[in-house]
Amino acid sequence: MEINQLNPDIVSVAPSALRVFDHEISADPDIVKLTLGEPDFNVPEHIKQAAIASINADQSHYPYYWGIQELRDAASTYYREKFGYQYTADQIVCTVGATEGLSATFKTLFQPGDGVLIPMPAYPVYKAMALVNHLKPIMIDTTANGCVLKPQQVTDAIKANPDVTIRGVVITDPSNPTGVVYSEDQLAALVPVLRDNKIWVISDEIYGELTYGVQHYSLSRWLPDQTIIINGLSKSHAMTGWRIGFAFGPTGVIDQIAKAHQFQVTTPTSIVQYAAVEALTHGQNDAAAMRKVYEKRCDYLKQELTKLGVTYVEPQGAFYIFMKIPEQCQLDSFAFARQLAKDYHVGLMPGAPFGDPQALRISYASSNENLHAAVDALTKELTKLGVL
Ligand code: PLP
Repeated sequence: MEINQLNPDIVSVAPSALRVFDHEISADPDIVKLTLGEPDFNVPEHIKQAAIASINADQSHYPYYWGIQELRDAASTYYREKFGYQYTADQIVCTVGATEGLSATFKTLFQPGDGVLIPMPAYPVYKAMALVNHLKPIMIDTTANGCVLKPQQVTDAIKANPDVTIRGVVITDPSNPTGVVYSEDQLAALVPVLRDNKIWVISDEIYGELTYGVQHYSLSRWLPDQTIIINGLSKSHAMTGWRIGFAFGPTGVIDQIAKAHQFQVTTPTSIVQYAAVEALTHGQNDAAAMRKVYEKRCDYLKQELTKLGVTYVEPQGAFYIFMKIPEQCQLDSFAFARQLAKDYHVGLMPGAPFGDPQALRISYASSNENLHAAVDALTKELTKLGVL
């Protein structure tokens, strides 16, 4: 069999550089990893018990493809109370993590050749999803504006791409990899240009519960008819491996996303859906305890990086710090990260896959001990390179 007979959309897309790098450094048994975006907390006990009860109650049948009614009712209430989302249960599809919600949304909203704006630095999955769906990802560098997309940049991108119909934008708020949170004013400022140009908003709000001293707003408040929200329990309830997420959207559009979802995976498992009902009905405070810990770790890293003279994008949410590699190092992000892993057994994520080859992403979803090890390794590496 020939590889060139396989689907070229898949063959031509590189596997996730983040996963590949993480796998590479994992060969070192002593490695301390601050690479993946994975909460280091266990699933709250009451949710585990709900999953066990669901198994014992033989809730083992095919759930309806949109997700079970109880879960969509619970999601409608939970997210309305948390963030003011205005969606009834029949405007919510339960997906296999946020990732599957993104995938079904990309598939449904766009046609081959459409342009999708991706403000950078960004979670690399968006670009890959655009490519496998024959779309044109248009990357917009936002570093000069504190990693927030400005309305003028949307206008400029439209002008700079006269042959492309720009039909979508992805907003990640709070952001992976920078932890930046859009303010109410910054979101409101984007509304006229997105509305006038009929640009769909894919609003990835998976870190919405993890903000430090600032409030999370959703663009759906201003643009309910042209926004699809992606959210889920991976980060808020430390349930990454359970694979449960949600897509929220206007009637008519969400129905089509539900179909795309049905044909790609059908549903998350029944047991996880029943456990997720518990998370959304009795787990309103689950994220708060984790958030407190993350915030302390974030403060610690900011303080230590500042002491080292290392600059970073000011984070207000998620569990990442996006730091600049000092120019004097003369190493790009992969070279620096590899060297740090080799010399001091600490893994930080290269910034290049996020769009900045001179940055590193530190995930502080990791123990204090690991954070200390990372600061120690950075200190030694920067000393060795003559920066300190
Ligand atoms: N969106 C963003 C911005 C993420 O950082 C991640 C995971 O790191 C996801 C989506 C994927 O979420 P899930 O595990 O629920 O598929």
